[in-house]
Amino acid sequence: MKSYYFNEEHDMFRQSLKDFLNKEAIPNITQWEQDRRIPKAFWKKFGDMGYFGINFPEKYGGLDLGFFYSVVLIEEISKCFSGGFAILPMVQSYMSTPYILNHGSEALKEKYLPGAIAGEKICSIAISEPGAGSDAMNIQTKAIKNGDHYIVNGSKTFITNAFYGDFMVAVVKTDPEAGVNGISLLVIDNKSEGVSMRKLNKLGWHSSDTAEINFDDVEVPKENLVGDEGMGFYYLMGGLQLERLVAAVGGFAGCESALRYSLQYMSERKAFGRPINKFQVLRHRVAQMASEIEAHKYFTYHCCKLHNDGEYAVKECSMAKLLGTEMANKVATECLQFFGGYGYMEDYKMARFFRDSRIGTIGGGTSEVMREIIAKMIIDGQEYEEA
Ligand SMILES: Cc1cc2nc3c(=O)[nH]c(=O)nc-3n(C[C@H](O)[C@H](O)[C@H](O)COP(=O)(O)OP(=O)(O)OC[C@H]3O[C@@H](n4cnc5c(N)ncnc54)[C@H](O)[C@@H]3O)c2cc1C
Repeated sequence: MKSYYFNEEHDMFRQSLKDFLNKEAIPNITQWEQDRRIPKAFWKKFGDMGYFGINFPEKYGGLDLGFFYSVVLIEEISKCFSGGFAILPMVQSYMSTPYILNHGSEALKEKYLPGAIAGEKICSIAISEPGAGSDAMNIQTKAIKNGDHYIVNGSKTFITNAFYGDFMVAVVKTDPEAGVNGISLLVIDNKSEGVSMRKLNKLGWHSSDTAEINFDDVEVPKENLVGDEGMGFYYLMGGLQLERLVAAVGGFAGCESALRYSLQYMSERKAFGRPINKFQVLRHRVAQMASEIEAHKYFTYHCCKLHNDGEYAVKECSMAKLLGTEMANKVATECLQFFGGYGYMEDYKMARFFRDSRIGTIGGGTSEVMREIIAKMIIDGQEYEEA
């Protein structure tokens, strides 16, 4: 069918990406999930292919392509039945390093972007703290200026890519008395003296590393400030739209692959003398899910087009994140049911899909927070402007 969003070049990019994933990633995912980590050598190969730098300028090693190439990437990595695998490039290229690209000084870009785009360095975004998740404004980590440095004290938790990673974009309070205007973004090297981490055990995303981080008098050079002091919260609000969009794309793409996998199984599995895909109750469930996935997919493409055209679409991106991740929870539950007892077994990818999907409605802003944003916009007439 004609596509309004992808052309022949996107299709060629998709095919070579699929070939790469089929050769280099998919055969290893079960092992990586068991090892609870993905070898750095793999991410170097991923970087060599240009996949970390799709929307980054060529001068830092990027491909400088349009956003729909990233949509292709996010779709395909989300179809590999491992949220732990997909999340690393999502965080690296769409949730952390864009703050450096969009707001950082030239020196900061030259210092950090080429390594990340090449896949030699892994970056994380450190917002959440033990006492501040949804309420990000309430963070307590402080960075107080002292000569040429900031001295950072505090802690972060649930930070993806941090434990085995190299640097982070950390959200800190540079002026604890200034409320929202006292929050800034600092790039901190993970190996800095005074940074310590503990790896967390999770329900899902087993191949992804998630860390609790402590900062104990960590000296960070002043030049590692991203953009202007006190602007961090506003930069963050802008960046979160892209994070939500990525979650929405991952949501429908994961659902598509779960449904395809289920259809294959349902055509082979027999009960009462016929394939289970002949039972009307299951057929109707499939039809309903396929319709919902399709509707969500095209709404999300619309949001991606808005993003690609430079629109600051807070309401639409929040809606897409809410619907896509809620749908993934539902599809995971219903598809697992099609597999009967086999769906509960580790030998079947559906078990992993089920536990990996569950984070979608929590990470990057919970469903409740998405509904709050949407309600404020459509009931109270609140408007948001990009920083
Ligand atoms: C695997 C994983 C990876 C993560 N990766 C990162 C990362 O890389 N970087 C990072 O900074 N963070 C990360 N997070 C943190 C994630 O963003 C937070 O968990 C999330 O924002 C929710 O915060 P919280 O866990 O503190 O829950 P809380 O904010 O304590 O919320 C608890 C419950 O209360 C509800 N609630 C809160 N406020 C409201 C309200 N106003 N109205 C209605 N309900 C409300 C929430 O929706 C939730 O159901 C990750 C989390 C996980 C589990």
